Amino acid sequence: MNYKIINLGILIFLLCIPCNAQTVSHQSSKDQTYFNGERLLQHIKILSSDDFEGRRTGTKGSTKARKYIINQFKKLNVLPLLETFTQHFSFTRRGKMYNGVNVLGFIKGTTSPYKYIVISAHYDHEGIINDEIYNGADDDASGVSALFAFAEYFKNNPPKHSVILAAFDSEELGLKGSKYFVNNSIVPLYYIEANINMDMISRSDKNELFAVGTRYNATLKHLISDFKQSKKVTLLMGHDGKDGKQNWTNSSDHGSFHKKKIPFLYFGVEDHKDYHRPTDDYENIHPEFFKEAVNVIISVFRNLDAIQLKK
Ligand SMILES: [Zn+2]
Repeated sequence: MNYKIINLGILIFLLCIPCNAQTVSHQSSKDQTYFNGERLLQHIKILSSDDFEGRRTGTKGSTKARKYIINQFKKLNVLPLLETFTQHFSFTRRGKMYNGVNVLGFIKGTTSPYKYIVISAHYDHEGIINDEIYNGADDDASGVSALFAFAEYFKNNPPKHSVILAAFDSEELGLKGSKYFVNNSIVPLYYIEANINMDMISRSDKNELFAVGTRYNATLKHLISDFKQSKKVTLLMGHDGKDGKQNWTNSSDHGSFHKKKIPFLYFGVEDHKDYHRPTDDYENIHPEFFKEAVNVIISVFRNLDAIQLKK
């Protein structure tokens, strides 16, 4: 056996380590997923149930959601970013004072621990209006459930960059949780390489998922253009102010990162008939689309984690 072949042997061996280490759970179909799909559905169902009363900032339902998130983070070996998982803030809106609470988890990176990717979703929603509960299944129990899928994935596939899993509060009241986070960040903003924000990712009549934000960053644009498309979910670019479509640059928490010049990718679907209505319920999400959308986002994360955005 010559030296080259031995080297090749070692290389193949090394290349196979991550394949073996990766947990692959199989759904009814043969498609590979990075997490348990049934568990993902269970989370969104629970978080968008009437028990959580629409998770409005400062309510009983919000406290309940926060406890649920912290519990899941603990179960999935996610560490608190601060001494505890919570970051408290307050603000006034239309003459009313609110106390918001972000939930921040941390996963240490293996090769670039001092550089961070913030993966976020907001856990608040509209609460109860005129005796009707706005459960916000798609908006944004879907994104929060995806945070747990990420945590599940990281258990066996630790990221290269450090990751902050951020469940922001008070998005519906003006991106207040993420604004507070970037203005009082626990890590210097310079070390945050990117934000991946997920808000409304669980339903689409056309099986389309948008990745917004590539207009502002050439590397991210290449990353999405080169992405190997999934058969079930079409990943599209746009909605960032150049294509005549609604501009989503500041439509959710990624807007707070963008204002600080931090590259972002926002994943979301087109508005639907239940958007910000009491009918945004678990029964109206598209389970197969949702599972695959989360799979796609984790795949994009893997590609992003493999490169350095900032020199
Ligand atoms: Zn939302």
